[in-house]
Parts: sequence; C-alpha cells; structure tokens
Amino acid sequence: MKLAFIGLGRMGSAMARNLLRAGHEVAVYNRTRGKAEALAADGAHAAGSLAEACRDCHAVLTMVADDRAVEEVAAGFSGALPEGAVHVSHSTISTALARRLAAAGAYVSAPVFGRPEAAEAGKLVVVAAGPAELLDRCRPVFDAIGGDTFIAGTEPWQANAVKLCGNFMIASMLESFAEAYALLRKAGVDPHLFLQAINALFASPVYANYGRIVADERFEPAGFALKLGLKDIRLALDAAQECAAPMPIASLIRDHLLAAVAQGQSELDWSSLTRIAARNAGL
Ligand code: NAP
Repeated sequence: MKLAFIGLGRMGSAMARNLLRAGHEVAVYNRTRGKAEALAADGAHAAGSLAEACRDCHAVLTMVADDRAVEEVAAGFSGALPEGAVHVSHSTISTALARRLAAAGAYVSAPVFGRPEAAEAGKLVVVAAGPAELLDRCRPVFDAIGGDTFIAGTEPWQANAVKLCGNFMIASMLESFAEAYALLRKAGVDPHLFLQAINALFASPVYANYGRIVADERFEPAGFALKLGLKDIRLALDAAQECAAPMPIASLIRDHLLAAVAQGQSELDWSSLTRIAARNAGL
C-alpha cells in the first residue's frame, strides 16, 4: 500500500520501519524533521509537510503523543487526503476524540499494546475498530506492525476503550508491584526472588517484564514516559464517566501518578510510579 506515517517518536519510528520491511511504500512526516530524515535510510520518503506525506496515499497512519497532537495533525492533512483514503489512528487517545474523527471522514482506531522493543520486533498487539470494509483494507498494515490483531467492534471509539482499559490493568499491576515490593523490602525479602514466584503463578510476559524493571529500579531511559501514562489513566477515567462505570482504583492510580509528576518523574518510565509506595513506606 502507499502509506503516509505521521509521528516518529519511540513507537512510530519502529512501526514505520516494519511497514517498509513489509514492502509498503511509506512517506513519513514528523514535527521535528530530523526523525523523518533518519527513516530515509530505511527506504522512507521524508516529507517536508503533512500534505506532501499524504499525496496519493491509500491511508494516513498517525502515532503522535495525545489528543491535542492528533487533532493538530488531522486538521493539517484534512484538505490534502486523496478521495477514499482512510485515517488510522494508532495513538492512545480519548473515546470522545475517536468519535469526532469518525464523524469527520473515513476513520479507523487501531491503538496498540507493547513497548518500543515490541514495536521494533513487529510484535505489537493491535486492537482495531471501525466499519468492516475499512478494517479489511487496513489489514496489511496491522499484519506488518503486529503479532495479533483484535477487532473490538464497528465503532472506532470501542478500540480506544479497550486500549484505555488495558493500560489501566497494567497500571494496576504496577501499583500492586509497588505495594508488594515495599512490604517485602521492609521484610528483608529480595523482590527478584518474589518475582520468580509471581512468574510461576501468572506466567505473563507483562508481569515478567515490568516486575524486573521495577525490581531493578531501571526507570531510564523511559520506554513509556510517566506523563503519557497519566494521560491514559485520565482518559480511562473520562471514558468511565461517559459510561457511568466507576473506577475507584483508577482514581487512586491517577493521584499516585500526579504525585510522581510533582516529584519530577514525568520523563521517567511510568513504572517509576512504584517509587510512591516505596517512599510512603519510608524506603
Ligand atoms: P514519543 O516518543 O514521546 O513521541 C511522540 C510523537 O508525537 C513525536 O513524534 C512527537 O513529535 C509527536 N508530537 C507530539 N506533540 C505533537 C504535536 N502537537 N504535533 C505534532 N506532533 C506531535 O511517544 P511514544 O512513546 O512514541 O507514544 C506515541 C503514542 O503511542 C502515545 O499516544 C502513547 O500513549 C502511545 N503508546 C506508547 C507506547 C510506549 O510504550 N511508548 C505503547 C503503546 C502506545 P516530535 O518528535 O516533534 O516531538
């Protein structure tokens, strides 16, 4: 397919590279131009503007930071999209914005699970939603960036609801690790040893990976910045409000993430949320 890829941060650069490896023709655009030029070595066309990136494309894929960024870039390319081209948003955005984007034209939400290493390996878990005909057209994109694709429904915002609930589950796991490790460290037990037992119990790559990062206290470089994690929990709470489904644990985690921001951890990995419980325990 002829694709435009907008947003070459930690995730977007790796995803664009996998689209190139899969044989797609990819024009890339990034607000900070150097990141687009870096992709030229992998065979991408580094476009100088959104309109140039979108010229003759079948689909424009966006992987920018947040709602505001997606709205800005979507406004920037809206007049330049060829007839029939579809916008696929991979960012973690609000359910409300997904509804507005769907009302504006051919649109699919396809947020992803997995950190930058999974993106590089083409092993993201893609959760897509939208009209069946558009999802079929986008299938080669999902296959190039992901190991598995799950279809959440025919309304794009349903995929964003799934993504926000998934990140809420991961944040809940981080909070659980934080509290358990704090107790165990005070009890004189090595968290790494505890993690071996947890891995035997849960057998989850997510538990194994984050459990190790937290036990090692390896919060830099950030794979997923804490400020973006706060954004996602805030969006999960917004969706909870829309659906009148209370999420008291999400509210608590939001406050702990805010405390982490107040203590200068915005740019650290979001697993550094666990420092809050450690500090509360006097560690
Ligand atoms: P990142 O490394 O911080 O990259 C952010 C990207 O957004 C950069 O390309 C940045 O451009 C662009 N951007 C930010 N504000 C913009 C604006 N106003 N206009 C145009 N472009 C703008 O973030 P990331 O980790 O790749 O995350 C990207 C998205 O994926 C987020 O929605 C995040 O929640 C989601 N996500 C992340 C992970 C993860 O583990 N990292 C996993 C799954 C989903 P510049 O280069 O010019 O700053």
